[in-house]
Amino acid sequence: MSTARFDALSKTIDRTKNVFEERPSTDVFGKDVFNNRTMQSFLSKEAYKEIRSATINGTKISRNMADQVASAMKLWASSRGVTHYTHWFQPLTGNSAEKHDSFFEMDADGEAIDKFSGSALMQQEPDASSFPNGGLRNTFEARGYTAWDPTSPAFIYDNTLCIPTIFVSYTGEALDFKTPLLRAIQAIDKAATSVAKYFDKNVTKVIPTLGWEQEYFLIDEAFYKTRPDLILSGRTLLGHYAAKGQQLDDHYFGSIPSRVLNFMRELEDTCLRLGIPVKTRHNEVAPNQFELAPIFEEANLAVDHNTLLMDVMQKVARNHKFEVLLHEKPFANVNGSGKHNNWSLQTDTGENLLSPGSKPKTNLQFLTFFINTIKAVHDYADLMRASIMTAGNEHRLGANEAPPAIMSVFIGSYLTSVLDELESISEGKLSPQEMTDLKLNVVGKIPTVLLDNTDRNRTSPFAFTGNKFEFRAVGSSSNCGLPMMVLNTIMANQLEQFKTEVDAKIEDGLKKDDAILQVLRDYIKASKKIRFEGDGYGDQWKAEAEKRGLTNVPQSPIAYDAFIEPRTLELFEKMEVIHAKEMVARNEVRLEEYTMKIQIEGRILYDLAANHVISAAIRYQSVLIQSVRGLKDIYGEDFRQYAREQLRIIEAISLNIEKVKELSDKMVEARRNANKLDDARAMALAYNENVKAYFEDIRYHCDKLELLIDDDFWPLPKYREMLFTR
Ligand code: ADP
Ligand code: MG
Repeated sequence: MSTARFDALSKTIDRTKNVFEERPSTDVFGKDVFNNRTMQSFLSKEAYKEIRSATINGTKISRNMADQVASAMKLWASSRGVTHYTHWFQPLTGNSAEKHDSFFEMDADGEAIDKFSGSALMQQEPDASSFPNGGLRNTFEARGYTAWDPTSPAFIYDNTLCIPTIFVSYTGEALDFKTPLLRAIQAIDKAATSVAKYFDKNVTKVIPTLGWEQEYFLIDEAFYKTRPDLILSGRTLLGHYAAKGQQLDDHYFGSIPSRVLNFMRELEDTCLRLGIPVKTRHNEVAPNQFELAPIFEEANLAVDHNTLLMDVMQKVARNHKFEVLLHEKPFANVNGSGKHNNWSLQTDTGENLLSPGSKPKTNLQFLTFFINTIKAVHDYADLMRASIMTAGNEHRLGANEAPPAIMSVFIGSYLTSVLDELESISEGKLSPQEMTDLKLNVVGKIPTVLLDNTDRNRTSPFAFTGNKFEFRAVGSSSNCGLPMMVLNTIMANQLEQFKTEVDAKIEDGLKKDDAILQVLRDYIKASKKIRFEGDGYGDQWKAEAEKRGLTNVPQSPIAYDAFIEPRTLELFEKMEVIHAKEMVARNEVRLEEYTMKIQIEGRILYDLAANHVISAAIRYQSVLIQSVRGLKDIYGEDFRQYAREQLRIIEAISLNIEKVKELSDKMVEARRNANKLDDARAMALAYNENVKAYFEDIRYHCDKLELLIDDDFWPLPKYREMLFTR
């Protein structure tokens, strides 16, 4: 191993000493959040009531009230030594963005004062010109503004008061993930509440809930800093797999290494202070892969918390000389990382609409929401897939570790039998006997605890897990805002349609329960092909899915087409979530992002191949040549018999160098050709099909060279070092 790498490793050993003392969560939870408790002590009773009502019912906040809240926030933040505030938002890059301002102002006499006004709280104008907008806004009118989202509480992070905001252009187009998500949440509230009223008149509000599970890798920062590919693209573009991978299954749920545990302790402490209710931590399948999951929350808050978490993780990791890898596939040949999105609907009467109850009535409610979800996913499967496709996630989907690029729904054997029974009920009005049978033997009998761990299908992209659906295909680095926006919108639309159909049947004289069952039966039939209980990883499923007419689209630039199909645009217009024009613009952003990601990877790969791999190979080859020359000096013309191995390696090195060079040049050529295209989709597709196509082959020969060359000469940290050093 090279000296540099040895140094890095030896330093690692000392790093285990950064011990973080855990504190009870009750001591720290929400300490850095301007939450209800803090608000109550910093606001007058009336102000507190008004702000609570605004967050719960979406009522408007008056200017005067905003002033009061702002000064209370400032008072609270200042008492904690905070001098700056920022509007915290989520532009289409998927990360969070901040622009810090201080509370410092000057009064009329030129004296310094500390001030934070209601208007500064409500609205800010970051320069929007550099954020991706898909041509929505010409740069000369680069004026977007951020506006306070009072439903997500302000928090102190990095000694700055952060105010969660939406980000929109002056002409009203959303430039972020949060704006359409909030609208989708409104849409589902409206649609789900009116359906929930069939079962309980007291329901006045329904909120979508989200519990994400964040997977990630940790590697020593010294290795990270010496891998240009990790620094610039988040994944290794080269590297022969280690002798040991995940084949022994010894990492999954294994004991957590102490250095990692120290990182996790500090991470959890920071999260809890920020009000992120983290609960679960464990090792994942691949070496040095881990997972963190919170208690679920209202979807908008949960998305904010996950976005914040991704930032917090990076910062805390650096205290422990680790680097967090959030990329979906940082290492070839071991599992990649996902971010399961557990989703359900909850009423203001405290009921989970996707949880079977103990009475037939609650179970009919459960079946209603359950079957409508399946129908929604069936009708908009392509859109669901589009919402999780990225350049990074492409490596994971269908790679025998993550669901394929075919959308399907898993519900378990018990519910399958329930749906089969419901499917066979007769058309029209049910006889009293039929109704009683159904209520007693089918609907009334669904057990409250539905799925045990043996009845879980880890290969399904969208699985029912007892009292929620789990969207398992989301990528680890994604902003959950997009899949959540899509899922809640298609569900809102579906529930509206359901309500219309049931009401029509009631108009026609059917009893409510009859009408509901009839419509559900039709939906079960109509959406049957999306249900799949088998192994989603196998090739058999691909063939079967094709027969069923389900689509399989593993290429992002093609998958994104679902976003701009006329029926999608109509759907989002109708649900008042996002305008067609904005949707089209967003697609441009996505396509451009895709192109740029592959372009960057291509450039790094070329640099690695030419300036790291080939040059190291030549250096080692010279040593061999030197050795052969020496043997010739000693043995004269007999040298060949003593230099067989050297000559073989010299030749193999040359052959592989030649291949690497030839393929790299072809890749550059493909890139040049792709760059000439002026349509964003065509360019992204050319990058996908022509440029990315060379990556594997270039890698193959580089990895061969890794095996041929003296470890001391190899310039990059190897897989065995990155994946097994803790
Ligand atoms: P796993 O999928 O690893 O077996 P769990 O069943 O413990 O994990 O749950 C995973 C996630 O699901 C957690 O984040 C949890 O908070 C979340 N979850 C549980 N109930 C709900 C719900 N009603 N709505 C949304 N998320 C939920
Ligand atoms: Mg899970």
